[in-house]
Amino acid sequence: MINGQMYAYGAESSKIREIFSYACARKEEIGAENVFDFSLGNPSIPAPEEVRASIERSLAEVPAAELHGYTPAPGLPAAREAVAASLNRRFGTAYTAADVFMTVGAAASVSCTLHAVACPGDEVIVIAPYFPEYRVWIEVAGATCVEVPADPETFQVDPAAVEAAITSRTAAVIVDSPNNPTGAVYTRETIERLAAVLERANAAREAELGHPQPIILISDEPYREITYGAEVPWVPSIYEHTVVCYSYSKSLSLPGERVGWILVPQVSEGARRVMAAVAGAARALGFVCAPALFQRVVADCVDVPPDVAAYARNRELLTSALSAYGYEYVEPDGAFYLWVRALEPDAEAFCERARAYELLPVPSNSFGVEGWVRVGYCVAPEVIERSLPAWRKLAEDYGVCGC
Ligand code: PLP
Repeated sequence: MINGQMYAYGAESSKIREIFSYACARKEEIGAENVFDFSLGNPSIPAPEEVRASIERSLAEVPAAELHGYTPAPGLPAAREAVAASLNRRFGTAYTAADVFMTVGAAASVSCTLHAVACPGDEVIVIAPYFPEYRVWIEVAGATCVEVPADPETFQVDPAAVEAAITSRTAAVIVDSPNNPTGAVYTRETIERLAAVLERANAAREAELGHPQPIILISDEPYREITYGAEVPWVPSIYEHTVVCYSYSKSLSLPGERVGWILVPQVSEGARRVMAAVAGAARALGFVCAPALFQRVVADCVDVPPDVAAYARNRELLTSALSAYGYEYVEPDGAFYLWVRALEPDAEAFCERARAYELLPVPSNSFGVEGWVRVGYCVAPEVIERSLPAWRKLAEDYGVCGC
């Protein structure tokens, strides 16, 4: 006997992973330099030198029996205190270690939070296009994934559309800014308008139920530090019932090491119950604790910035060429993805045609919308440079080349 739902998640695997596997096989066949794999969100810049120094320091100084030992479930006090202190410096807040729960990356942060705040039968709103794993994590928590389209011009959250989708079963809304896959950064005004919608819904619900049952805003922010000049507003300062999910996968280029955190500001009895439920979810899902060595890295490297300049150069290289060839795209303010309009309505058919030129973007169907592709430019700049003639030929193939 096996669990059919789990079997389906395993058997289908994600489209992104499928394209990545195809790219690996194709590189074996025709040489890595001839394949242009834009599928994954694996940072192309190495982890900063400070990470290595921190690991070496831990190896030299932490008693052998502690080094790889279990940590407390919410994390090492030093890591939690470092995260709280860093946020306080940056956002003028007054968090303490009690507000922070260390996790096994953003995937664990979001799935623990969903398990903590959603009950079977509840609904969780996502903004389409959205990170495909959200649907899996929402469904496993027993809830229903409700897709609300982003503004079609700006790819900002459309607060009126969110308002129209809220029901008595809405437990949470997930926002992801800087956004995967569009690169949009939600403005302060967008977040304020969304907060106003949620506050209105909360007030109506409290009047009906006779007690508060606020909608939780899950702010998934693994790309917070990767921006090209745009402000990324601090969401808990705008909407009280926010849970922030973070990881060091992108900012410290540590996706394989699995470390991040959940922030639940302990401002009310309700928030304390959310944090207790987060701890319960981490226990129930079997996470035990975040990796001990990398919690120490977080304590040491919490303020080390990513090399955004490297991604900015890739972004410039790709966007200037694609616009010259006649492609339409969303100017990315953050993250390391370019959201490009497919040259025909069917994004999967477009990706098939791109494959003939060894170009491997991800079709937008995977992200819940039609007609676009995601191009991950977290690759070596030479990959982008070598791919440019292929992008040009593809545009010519469709008769749209602007040059
Ligand atoms: N959330 C978003 C929006 C992501 O893009 C990713 C990874 O690409 C994750 C969560 C998962 O991140 P992690 O590798 O830290 O689990």
